[in-house]
Amino acid sequence: ICMTIYNFSAGPAVLPKPVLEIAQSEMLDYKGSGMSVMELSHRSSLFEAIIQDAESLLRELMAIPDNYKVLFLQGGASLQFSMVPLNLAQGKKALYVNTGSWSKKAISAAKALENIEVEVIASSEEQNFTSIPELPETVDQKAAYVHITTNNTIEGTAYAKIPSYGDVPVVADMSSNILANDYKVEDFGVIYAGAQKNIGPAGLTVAIVREDLLNQEAVFAPMLDYALQAKNNSLYNTPPTYAIYIAKLVFEWVKEQGGVAGITAKDREKAQLLYDAIEKSNLFKSPVEKASRSLTNIPFVTGDEALDKAFNQAALVEGFENLTGHRSVGGMRASLYNAFPLEGVEALIAFMEKFEQENG
Ligand code: PMP
Repeated sequence: ICMTIYNFSAGPAVLPKPVLEIAQSEMLDYKGSGMSVMELSHRSSLFEAIIQDAESLLRELMAIPDNYKVLFLQGGASLQFSMVPLNLAQGKKALYVNTGSWSKKAISAAKALENIEVEVIASSEEQNFTSIPELPETVDQKAAYVHITTNNTIEGTAYAKIPSYGDVPVVADMSSNILANDYKVEDFGVIYAGAQKNIGPAGLTVAIVREDLLNQEAVFAPMLDYALQAKNNSLYNTPPTYAIYIAKLVFEWVKEQGGVAGITAKDREKAQLLYDAIEKSNLFKSPVEKASRSLTNIPFVTGDEALDKAFNQAALVEGFENLTGHRSVGGMRASLYNAFPLEGVEALIAFMEKFEQENG
């Protein structure tokens, strides 16, 4: 391919090129073992070093306090929709904020469990999820947790501030803005994220669980039990070894970018450029309320479906891949995760201006 491809996918998403180059150079022979990482035993010392480095790097990047466990799991963020209530809310009430498609899936998964009462305490569904709703000041202190989706991948909204509810922990689906925000881990009881956006390949899910929330009684299925996974340092069964290796390389790369503060400054710059261009345009509009706008997923529309389609088709020809909005909302969506280059945003803006001149 001689043309530059910019991958705006919401996930699996663009990865840092230097990470892919290291993976390539180590593909056939990892550190003199004569094997690729994929072929290493998960009980080998070489793999143990990889998983330990991955954990300590993530702890350093996110400033994870010692009283939190870091778990490398499988099943995607979607399995966490069930694991969170199973581990934290048996026989209790679980509270949810509904901010979009993924929140709704988390709510349905909790509702499907028998001995858990689910209550939605705030929702922006009536506003078509174009903002983060106003949240209650206080909640029932007997509730097991309040679940939020910090960044709504499809709708393009994010929490500017994390609410605090006394003894009731906040549980967060941080799939699409982990390592791209200035939230503090201490403000959460559990954080989970599918890896395939800011962390690495699909197949790995990271969960960060405050120790006092580890269930005291075994969960009926061992694989779904946070306490058991923690006790076994994520090696209860064979973990997704190659995905963990790539995650480790991504964490090293984020550290080289100045850590989360450094990368978030770059994310802000990229997002601001695109939001400014949308603001300036007479053709493109953002459907999202200003105070709720996401840095990582930026939807925009012309207001005319046929024109959106024409834009998306012309964009593809220019090498702008995966710009089409989620099938549930239409229009366009630029996902600007940590590894997405600034030049790609500049190229997109130049293309949008050209399209507007020709079609505006
Ligand atoms: N939550 C959010 C916010 C997401 O963006 C996604 C995936 N796009 C999911 C959950 C589901 O993740 P998975 O496919 O890893 O189950």
